[in-house]
Amino acid sequence: MDDLGVSMHKFCEELFPICRSITGDGVRKTLSMVRQHLPGLKIHEVPTGTECFDWVVPREWNIRDAYIIDPAGRKIVDFQKSNLHVLGYSIPVDKQVSLKELQEHLYSLPDQPSAIPYSTSYYKERWGFCISHQQRSSLSEGTYHVRIDSDLAPGSLTYGELILPGLEKKEIFLSTYTCHPSLANDNLSGPVVTTFLAKWLMGLKDRRYTYRIIFIPETIGAIIYLSRNMAAMKENIIAGFNLTCMGDDRAYAYLPSIQGDTLADKVARHVLKHAQPDHLTYTFLDRGSDERQYCSPGIDLPVCSIMRTAYGRFPEYHTSLDDLDLVTSSGLWGGYESHRRCLECLERNEVLKAAVLCEPQLSRRNMAQTVSSKTGLDRGRRDSINLMMYCDGRRSLLEVADLINVPLWELFPVIDNLKKTGLLSGREGL
Ligand code: ZN
Repeated sequence: MDDLGVSMHKFCEELFPICRSITGDGVRKTLSMVRQHLPGLKIHEVPTGTECFDWVVPREWNIRDAYIIDPAGRKIVDFQKSNLHVLGYSIPVDKQVSLKELQEHLYSLPDQPSAIPYSTSYYKERWGFCISHQQRSSLSEGTYHVRIDSDLAPGSLTYGELILPGLEKKEIFLSTYTCHPSLANDNLSGPVVTTFLAKWLMGLKDRRYTYRIIFIPETIGAIIYLSRNMAAMKENIIAGFNLTCMGDDRAYAYLPSIQGDTLADKVARHVLKHAQPDHLTYTFLDRGSDERQYCSPGIDLPVCSIMRTAYGRFPEYHTSLDDLDLVTSSGLWGGYESHRRCLECLERNEVLKAAVLCEPQLSRRNMAQTVSSKTGLDRGRRDSINLMMYCDGRRSLLEVADLINVPLWELFPVIDNLKKTGLLSGREGL
């Protein structure tokens, strides 16, 4: 583990208390905190009512306070203690209700009685409270005072975009979402790991590809972004990743693009095969995030996901139990490092060709093992010979690394050496 894991966890802690939704000031505050790390982040506002493909940008939701006072005058549910207590997008309410009426507006999880569920009602007007089932079971008959101090009014939807230009116009796309309130694995791990990957990319000398990095609300944000940028994205993006659920310590998982064999899929599988051989592999039927938009017919972008424990696959998912204990420094670092490896492999992926016909005479170049032995070649020499054998001017280095079953990142010094000695040559775009 790296100090970066600790820094990422700290950033999660800073962002955790903010009440985010698909619109509103919580998103703006979150993006302004991301911008402190990424000064080039551009913040866009899309007005309510804007049409994007089959959708319309909803009204903007903001909330200041919410509570329930019980018949004895005690504040038993308090938004200030947990922003999960309010059904996301609740319309304002301030009235006295019977227990029977209150029950119609309560959401709880009988199977997880201590957890507060995370629920939303973006596209149908409702008000509601999410509480633990334990608490719900203890409510007695009487009159309750419910108050939600919120606004649902014309405004705008906010998203962040960072373009990091590279030597080439071809792009690598990173997408993450910023629409969940105080929830850690799904969802703060996504924007936090993406922020730190962007910082790493900003420091990369001679960055080859252009990077398109977006922080959007899930679903509606991806649809809006595509409706505005589809042509450039289709023309330029060679690989993309939807970054979500990267903070716990329990598993690694890969969810393919719908095509399953894009460059993004190939590099994700290569990295996970060598770095996390026990990882889980899902199919596109298990999809649940913005790959639903990026891979839809007519959009067809090469976007897959590398996750730790995926959405819907951990018991704490979308409840108050998905907190900063579930997400750890080492969990975040694992999510970060898996993606960083993919980006590093993509940056260095090229088509090379052996520069001599037949095997080169290594002894002339001081590269030979001068005493032959029964056990054969040592690892470095074996990798060199294999590289030269498979680099035929047609296969990419990623394909060669797969064929010779060595992690591409372990071949970087070997490739550098063979290029220096003139035995491998010819960089071409992919
Ligand atoms: Zn979610």
